[in-house]
Amino acid sequence: MPPIQDFLSTIALLYVEDDPDIRLQMVRFLSRRVPRLIIAENGRDGLNKFMVNHPDIIVTDIMMPEMDGLQMAKAIREKDRDIPIVVMTAHNDDDYFIRSIDLGIDRYVLKPTNPRFLIEAVEKCAQLLLSKRQQEEANHYVRFLLDAQPNLLMVVTGGEVEYVNQAFLNFLGISSLDDFKKMVVDNEDLVFSTHGSIINEGGHWLEALLAAPEKYSVVYLKTNKSVKLVPFALKTNSLPEQNRHLFSFIDITNIENEKRQLETQAYTDGLTGMCNRARLQGVLEAELHRARRHNLPVSIILCDIDHFKLVNDTHGHQIGDDVLKKFAKLLRENVRIEDVVARWGGEEFMIVSPLNDACATGLLAEKLRRLIADESFAKVGHVTCSFGVTQARREDTIRTLTERADKALYQAKTGGRNRVEIAG
Ligand code: GH3
Ligand code: MG
Ligand code: MG
Repeated sequence: MPPIQDFLSTIALLYVEDDPDIRLQMVRFLSRRVPRLIIAENGRDGLNKFMVNHPDIIVTDIMMPEMDGLQMAKAIREKDRDIPIVVMTAHNDDDYFIRSIDLGIDRYVLKPTNPRFLIEAVEKCAQLLLSKRQQEEANHYVRFLLDAQPNLLMVVTGGEVEYVNQAFLNFLGISSLDDFKKMVVDNEDLVFSTHGSIINEGGHWLEALLAAPEKYSVVYLKTNKSVKLVPFALKTNSLPEQNRHLFSFIDITNIENEKRQLETQAYTDGLTGMCNRARLQGVLEAELHRARRHNLPVSIILCDIDHFKLVNDTHGHQIGDDVLKKFAKLLRENVRIEDVVARWGGEEFMIVSPLNDACATGLLAEKLRRLIADESFAKVGHVTCSFGVTQARREDTIRTLTERADKALYQAKTGGRNRVEIAG
């Protein structure tokens, strides 16, 4: 059986005709194709049967008592905008013809009716209905698949958001596509941000997303309910149909947090919580560059706790650690906010002091020396420290700069410890 006849055998057709002879004749033909035939004798009867039986296609005469075919069609269209309606009309029904155009009647069959033409008209309506249902089924299936995904998905067609999946709605705390559209208009409610700038300002967020390269890029989303931006990896796929894109937002909060933690770990000294030597390398590089470029001074202090081995040997490694922690805290709390304090290694620390020349930095070192010497460390008592200070020269590399500071520190050690030496 051809698919359309197959389809006709599954649907219900409402046939409305007041003339008993014509009705009998047409029903004979129609019922061979459409087993589920609902028959009505006038417009009012037809409308009632439409409400009760929910047919798929309507075939109606126009001129009938009680309620004519077009009045009935109008009432039906108010309930169902898309239901196919076929009218049977006589040649001279000009006025009815115009009214039926207004109602968007799908097909006309002239009276007196050749049953073959009526069947043809019904088949054409059924064909459209079938395509529409197949399309709906396909869409339904696609949406089911989209909704089953844990990632936030958005389908955009011709510059319009066509669909956002359930995960997206859940993330935003809303329940429909319309809510979504309202939300993106007001960028207070939903913020799209990438590379540190908000991209839905001025309503151009979609263009910005479309302009994102077809590989992963990171986009941040924030709703008015959440305080922080949530990071997503954005993947854009062009769908086969023209001008259609699928955007996948994959929540990478955990990955980002882990990345940040690893970065922090990699640059932090475990014992004192301050910058480690790896981080200091970057700081020195940036500061040397800045100083050269703007012709500004930058100086460093290298300090080393005196006879620290003795502390360990006398009180144990744990107490030694406590001294290091307190020592680090003292340094940190007594420098300017722009000074960077880092653990250089063991019981040696470095302070990078931007905008300070050797003289000012020498004074800072002296202040720190005294502060430490005056401090009492638990179980250990007094601890002293030696300092080597130097100011960066134009031609300095990190290595030449730190070597000079190390020499000055060595002089402080050999000169009796608990003192500051400034490299000339
Ligand atoms: P100087 O005055 O010449 O600097 O003498 P010093 O004893 O401080 O120098 P030395 O380099 O001989 O010894 C440094 C000691 O620091 C040896 C090492 O065990 C100790 N040390 C290094 N790192 C740590 C640490 O993380 N914790 C503890 N408790 N001790 C450490
Ligand atoms: Mg040492
Ligand atoms: Mg030492």
